[in-house]
Amino acid sequence: MINDALLKAVEEELEKRPWRLKFSEEVEARFEADTQRQRSLNMVVAGLIAASIYSLFLINDYSFRPDSFLTAVQLRIGVMLPIGLTILWLVYRGVAPAIRETLMATTVVVAMMVSCLIFVTSTEPYSYLDVFSFGLILVVGNIIYPLRFSYACASSGIGVLIMLAFIVAYEPMPIEAKRLAMFSIVAKALFTLFANYRLERSERSGYLLVLKEKIRSGYYLKDNRKLSRLSVTDPLTNIANRRQFDTIFPLRWQEAIDKHNFLGLMVIDIDYFKAYNDYYGHLQGDQCLRQVAATIQANSRDTDLVVRFGGEEFVVLMPNATSQAVRQAAERIRCSIEALYIPNYGCSGQRLVTVSIGVALLCPTNRFTPDEFLAHADTALYRAKRQGRNCVCVADIE
Ligand code: GH3
Ligand code: MG
Ligand code: MG
Repeated sequence: MINDALLKAVEEELEKRPWRLKFSEEVEARFEADTQRQRSLNMVVAGLIAASIYSLFLINDYSFRPDSFLTAVQLRIGVMLPIGLTILWLVYRGVAPAIRETLMATTVVVAMMVSCLIFVTSTEPYSYLDVFSFGLILVVGNIIYPLRFSYACASSGIGVLIMLAFIVAYEPMPIEAKRLAMFSIVAKALFTLFANYRLERSERSGYLLVLKEKIRSGYYLKDNRKLSRLSVTDPLTNIANRRQFDTIFPLRWQEAIDKHNFLGLMVIDIDYFKAYNDYYGHLQGDQCLRQVAATIQANSRDTDLVVRFGGEEFVVLMPNATSQAVRQAAERIRCSIEALYIPNYGCSGQRLVTVSIGVALLCPTNRFTPDEFLAHADTALYRAKRQGRNCVCVADIE
């Protein structure tokens, strides 16, 4: 039922508003639960690479503006790196999705702030040229991490405003360069946000398709299990059917050969059942079959396989049996069915529903086949019938 509802919700998501970047509450929760760990790890790896490259920009600082190199070291290594690494550590440890995105977006904003502070502290004439590379910070946030779209928009917006504030206040920079720098950072923000949106949308729709298939295959698996259980169960009596016996019998046979154990087999047939049916009708005949099946099952061990072999004939396969146990079990079953006191006025001589049982016991070897073993039990059953029914006969197997 849970899968049913989820599958429906996933199918609705696939159909409705594919441009949206938010699922319904239930699917969103599943999406986060399924992707959170991997997403955090990916972000941490991306963050470490970004932090290394950001620190390597010290080479640029050294060659461009040696006068503020010390400030650059303090800001990049003393401020940005500890903040960045702390955030990456927290994300690696695992935090709520909104906190993860906020923290990672913070690295973008702090990086922009630090980069601006470095370029304004220098009096070197070309120090401001650096601002044309600040778009890389947005590339990291929007494409390399990549942040969720709303956080990408927010951090890009704040980043652009920070840059605008520093550039406007920075006098040595010609107005044409300022204009170009702002135009360029806004264009980079827009391009990378566009890419970010597409990335998130394809991640989400890919996730939905995979989830749908996962739920479905889980479904079929359950259905298959149900079907295969049904295919080995007799629908009338709810015990094992002939097909299950045909599968299990050779396995138990081989197991007994391997372990040198005895295998017991009972063939049970209801006496004068045709007459019962003719007298009481098929429906009551069915009811009688159910009662008999339930009684046989109730008088067997859990390890025994109770089978409706066909019509009014049952088989009990008893692994790890002894001669005494098999005889006792057969007698117990016979008595219990007689004790049901189901009247059978269909036949003149007999007044109750009874069974005849043929029993065989064998320590299987490769000299015999399972079919021969079954034939022995069947022969014993016919002997029981000939002896007057409502009795147990044991097969002679030498
Ligand atoms: P015997 O004591 O020699 O076993 O006599 P019998 O009448 O029990 O044996 P027979 O094989 O002649 O008849 C079996 C009857 O079982 C025939 C059929 O009417 C009945 N039967 C077989 N399958 C079903 C079933 O699924 N439901 C019902 N109600 N009757 C069934
Ligand atoms: Mg029969
Ligand atoms: Mg019969």
